[in-house]
Amino acid sequence: MSHFGKVGIVTGSTSGIGLAITKALIKEHAHVVINGFATHQEVDALLAELNGLGKGKAVYCQADLTQVGDIEKLIHFAHDTFGRVDIVVNNAGMQHVAPITEFSPQKWDQIIALNLSAAFHTSRLALPLMRENHFGRIINIASTHGLVASEGKAAYVASKHGILGLTKVIALETALENITCNAVCPGFVLTPLVEAQVRDKMTKTGMTFDEASKSLVSDKQPSQCFVPVEEIAAACLYLASDHASQVRGAHLVVDGGWTIQ
Ligand code: NAD
Repeated sequence: MSHFGKVGIVTGSTSGIGLAITKALIKEHAHVVINGFATHQEVDALLAELNGLGKGKAVYCQADLTQVGDIEKLIHFAHDTFGRVDIVVNNAGMQHVAPITEFSPQKWDQIIALNLSAAFHTSRLALPLMRENHFGRIINIASTHGLVASEGKAAYVASKHGILGLTKVIALETALENITCNAVCPGFVLTPLVEAQVRDKMTKTGMTFDEASKSLVSDKQPSQCFVPVEEIAAACLYLASDHASQVRGAHLVVDGGWTIQ
């Protein structure tokens, strides 16, 4: 499934799932613009690691994906740097857990902007560039929370349900082209985003990190184990490939059985 010479943008790729997707694309000889919050030293270390693979090239673009102007800068930077844009993985996301009556309106706005609106903006800006080369793959990292709900996650669940709707609209609007838009719905993956929830559980229950992790994941996933980041990356490689040209508006669930119950 080589992606030789293709150019990808992976939002929120300085850690977790986005970083794993970036590594997988670069190993398949794609060039990737990485993005996310990190210090200069962290970015330098990441670029050294990614470019040290000796395959595709990685460059970094600082952009806050809650800001429309920054999103425009990111897409133009990718096009100016590599001369084309083939793959956009809308991965940057955040979580906040609180009952709705205590949910801060600022957090609501921030989560909707990052988890949902950013994908609208990257897609509207990248599609004309994809059309230049008659090829495009938009992959939205949704969640099991795009399909089912959990208490305390109003903004997250709303944003992830929303992004599945957006995925279908873009898929319809590109149905006659060699451009697809699909989503991946991960269950629990042990990244910094989920570690925060594990630590919250430790504080509330006095459990150890391992006990709290096991309890969190077992509560939802029949497999009782986290989804490895590499499995999400592999799903993205497939959706980005020529082998998935007729997979359109779909969501690929990788969740240890969470949503079959
Ligand atoms: P993570 O916290 O490890 O990574 C989030 C990334 O987004 C980081 O690179 C961070 O710097 C970046 N980011 C945060 N705010 C940003 C902003 N305003 N602008 C630009 N970048 C920003 O989280 P993760 O678990 O790897 O999550 C990645 C995606 O996967 C998210 O959309 C998340 O909702 C989704 N997801 C995660 C899980 C899980 O269990 N970890 C499950 C389902 C879906």
